[in-house]
Order: sequence, then structure tokens, then C-alpha cells
Amino acid sequence: MNTNYPAEPFKIKVVEPIAMTTREERAQYLKEAGYNTFLLNSAQCYIDLLTDSGTTAMSDNQWAGMMLGDEAYAGSRNFIHLQEVVREYYGFKHIIPTHQGRGAENLLSRLCIKPGDYVPGNMYFTTTRAHQELNGAQFVDIIIDEAHDSQINLPFKGNVDINKLQKLIDEVGADRIPYVCVAVTVNLAGGQPVSMENLREVKKLCSQHGIQVMFDATRCVENAYFIKEREAAYAHKTIREILKEMMGYSDGCTMSGKKDCLVNIGGFLCMNDDDLYQRACELVVLFEGMPSYGGLAGRDMEAMARGIEESVDYHYIHHRISQCRYLADQLVAAGIPIVLPVGGHAVFLDARKFLEHIPQEQFPAQTLAAHLYLESGVRSMERGIVSAGRNKETGEHYRPKLELVRLTIPRRVYTYAHLDVVAQACKDLYQHRSQLQGMQMVYEPKFLRFFTARFEPVVQKAVAKPSAEPKVAALETA
Ligand SMILES: *Cc1c(COP(=O)(O)O)cnc(C)c1O
Repeated sequence: MNTNYPAEPFKIKVVEPIAMTTREERAQYLKEAGYNTFLLNSAQCYIDLLTDSGTTAMSDNQWAGMMLGDEAYAGSRNFIHLQEVVREYYGFKHIIPTHQGRGAENLLSRLCIKPGDYVPGNMYFTTTRAHQELNGAQFVDIIIDEAHDSQINLPFKGNVDINKLQKLIDEVGADRIPYVCVAVTVNLAGGQPVSMENLREVKKLCSQHGIQVMFDATRCVENAYFIKEREAAYAHKTIREILKEMMGYSDGCTMSGKKDCLVNIGGFLCMNDDDLYQRACELVVLFEGMPSYGGLAGRDMEAMARGIEESVDYHYIHHRISQCRYLADQLVAAGIPIVLPVGGHAVFLDARKFLEHIPQEQFPAQTLAAHLYLESGVRSMERGIVSAGRNKETGEHYRPKLELVRLTIPRRVYTYAHLDVVAQACKDLYQHRSQLQGMQMVYEPKFLRFFTARFEPVVQKAVAKPSAEPKVAALETA
């Protein structure tokens, strides 16, 4: 193997067999799932790249920690350990565990947002924006314009556009901006990082106006890796040092432990401000539990503490990001349109370019994800118009420029050989792309519709040329 892609820095102690299915079976499963890959069962998937959230393989050390769970209702030893680790590695004064990232987002949004406020962010994340809007705020996108273009290759495509932030402050006033939410890295832009220089500038501007900076730290270790790789001053710093400096440019964070903390469940909210912490302690008991467990078992907190310690190991993160690159390099070599540069947790197919003949109202990314599953058993996720949802005021679809299918790489789970299978499946589909037909939505839930929406293939009216290729038949006849 090419040494550009380091071999796994772990060996395999436990294995889990995965499902092998036929195309015929998958056609049936897909129909039952309303052509929404979220509604498939995992037993129906061969290689499951739906998400890297909670799908991590924990280490033997973390599993050993699970046996040391101290399930005390209050003041568990594992909470004390987690608190120590978060203080040491992230540098925040206070931590409140939550059941997962959105639990922390709920608390932060409720505590800080008043109706009519604005919350600027470097592109939205689904649950993050939903909680902001639920509390009466309007999300304002302040990411650099280039982030909305899948083909512009920039080292820090997740950066905040400082001018956009300044303009918003000038327009609405600092009083109506409770905090700026900076995601490191930016999931929906394709896992794009934010530079240390940019974080420093955002913090400086916000400090001048008395506005807090809250990170969505979900993928902060991946961001630290990119800083080490791409920002000259940090080439010789450790991931751990970079991470701590990054966090120093914020006043707190929300965290989904299911990503960079290497656990299957958990999250937390951090802050330095004593008063905010006090108020968060009062609120958390309503939604999650005591401030010393926040909806988690003691064993889960222990696994998360150990996961944080492992996550800053250079060999771990180098391998992870190399896996993304390995897959991406094969797709690029085959001429398949993907988001560039490749981010930290996934490869994103550009469904607009992949399926140029399908208009956005017919959900090209949803269609592509469905067909990828049908042909190969590889499960991916739509990140386009379905995920973007509707504008609350006008009822119109948000129409994101990026219409993507996310091939998300779980941490420490699959090998390079699995990724070869995924690459081949994408290449086969690309060959037959002109035969794919779009979808219509037949059930639309009110919130976060992408999770449970149902679709049907659009039935084409007498088309000019019937498909001669049996391999990729229209979905409803499959
Ligand atoms: C996953 C994720 C969240 C939400 O976290 P959950 O643990 O799924 O609730 C928030 N922000 C980003 C960037 C995420 O990737």
C-alpha cells in the first residue's frame, strides 16, 4: 500500500460480522424505508457510512473503564475524572455532561437566547440551528463565501468572514447577539477546518463588543489536525497543544462526545463564566439530570474521559484523516465530483454535479444516496435540500448551494479494503448516472425532516428513450 496512507495504528481484538444482502432484498428494504437511508435497519447495510456519530469502535482501555463505572446519583468518581480531563485538555473551567450534543445545545440556547436575537455561525448545523430557532433567534451565516462552493480548494474553508460578522454587529447591535457559534470543523461545509488565526480574530472582534464565543467543538480534534498540517506556525506543535490553544479563543463549547471524544453516547456543555454555569446547573436538572451526570451513566463518563485522552494521539487522528483521503483520491481519479478539499470525517459527493439532470426539487442527493444503497449496500446520508428544511416564516424550502451525499467514516471501524468497495460502488453508479430519476417527498415531518421523511421515485411521463440498461432500473420497478 502507498505509504501516503498509514496502516491502522491499532489491531483488532473483537469483530462484528456484517450483513451481506442481494440487490433484490435491498430494493425491498429501500421501498419499506421510504427511500430514506435513515429509515433502513443497520442489519440491511453492508458498509454503513450513514454517520460517524456514536459509531466509533472504543478501545480496550475504554471498555475497561466501563467496568469502573461509579453509578452514584451524585458526585460520581467518573464525573470527577471527566471534569479533570476536560479542564486539562480543553481548558474550560466548568463542564456539565449531557446525554449528547443536542442536550448541550438545548441548554445553551435556552440560557442565552432571547426572542429576536441573532446567532451568527459559520454555516448552520441541523440540531444547533433548530435549538436556536426554537428559542426565538435567527441564525445568520457568517462563513466565508467560498465554503458554499464545492470546488474551491482552500486550506481553511470553514473560516468565519470577519466582515460579515462586523456587518451584522453594526446592523443589529451587539446586545442582540448573545454569542457567536463557531463550529470547528464545519460539518455541513464538508468537514472544513477553521484556522487558528481566524479563531483569534473572531475572539478579538467579539471581545471588543462584549459578545461571547461558543464553539461547537464536536470535531475539534480533526480541526486541530488540519491546523498542524496547514498553518505553518503549528507544524511542530502537538495535537494536544493546538487543541488547548484553540479552545482558549472561546468562552465555552457544546460537544457531541459521539464524535471526537470516541464514545457511543454522551456530550457536554462547557463554559468559563461562573454565573452562566450556575444557571446551567439549575436548568440541566429539568432536561438531563444532576449536573454531575447529565443523563449519562458513570461508565459512559469514564469512557468519554478516556476517549478524550486517546483522541489527541497523532497516530490515531493521522490515520483517520488519511482514510478520508484514501477514499477521496480514488473518486477524484475516476472524475467523480466531490467537495474539495477533503475534510476530516467524510467524503461528500456533489450530487448536483453527479446528477445534473435532476432538479433540486427532486432531491438529487436523496436520490443518489438511495441508489448507492440499492446497488452496493453502502449506506450514506443526504446533506442537501432535505436536510436544510424550510424557512419558518415563508414555508419555502431552504435551497442550499451544496447538495451533497455524505460518505461518513466511522472512527476505527472500517479498513482500507472496505473503502475500496465504497469507491467501486460510486464509480459503477457514476457510469450509469444518466438513468437515475428523481424523487418526490410523500411524508414530511415538522422538525428535522431529513430523519424521518419518506419519498417515492418520480414517475416519468412518457420519456423519449426507455432505459436499455437493466442494472440501474428505475427504483419503483426494482
Ligand atoms: C453531531 C453534531 C451535533 C449534535 O450532536 P448529537 O450528539 O448528535 O446530539 C452538533 N454539531 C455538530 C457539528 C455535529 O456534528
